[in-house]
Amino acid sequence: MACKKGCFRCCMAPIIDINGIEICGISWYASEKLIGDVRKTVKSQLINHRTSTQCPFLVDSICAIYTVRPITCRQFHIIGEPCGEKEDVLITRPQDIWAANRTIGKKVAIKILPFFGIHNRKKQESAFERGFIAAVSKPMHRLDMKIFYEVMELFDNV
Ligand code: SF4
Ligand code: SF4
Repeated sequence: MACKKGCFRCCMAPIIDINGIEICGISWYASEKLIGDVRKTVKSQLINHRTSTQCPFLVDSICAIYTVRPITCRQFHIIGEPCGEKEDVLITRPQDIWAANRTIGKKVAIKILPFFGIHNRKKQESAFERGFIAAVSKPMHRLDMKIFYEVMELFDNV
């Protein structure tokens, strides 16, 4: 794997799908766990965020919400050389993108689906086959990042 701490080019112009459960988790983590300068920087980046700029949770080349980062970030890995500056690996070397296999994908989906109220195993398998999680996700960079800022503000002013 080329990916390692401090390697962040994939966070500069990310196309990351995020779902409601992840939004809740990140809101909680950002408001209750981020402290000090990292918290200040994240808040500032959230309030000033514009679509197509870098991810507002990237601080000093590190993901500030690493523990609760979206599953899309968790499963995007490159084999061989790290991504070059402005390189779009989807175009330049798709063969170097590590892809989770279906078995892993299904295990992950079955862990997540109860949070969407799907507890029955058969229904979970059917939801996985239908691509339920992808269907309830949307591109993170199109979100109004102020929703995270507002939760952090609320927490700061309690
Ligand atoms: S995907 Fe590319 S830029 Fe992101 S951590 Fe891996 S090698 Fe680095
Ligand atoms: S959430 Fe973290 S890992 Fe994902 S794009 Fe943002 S900074 Fe990078």
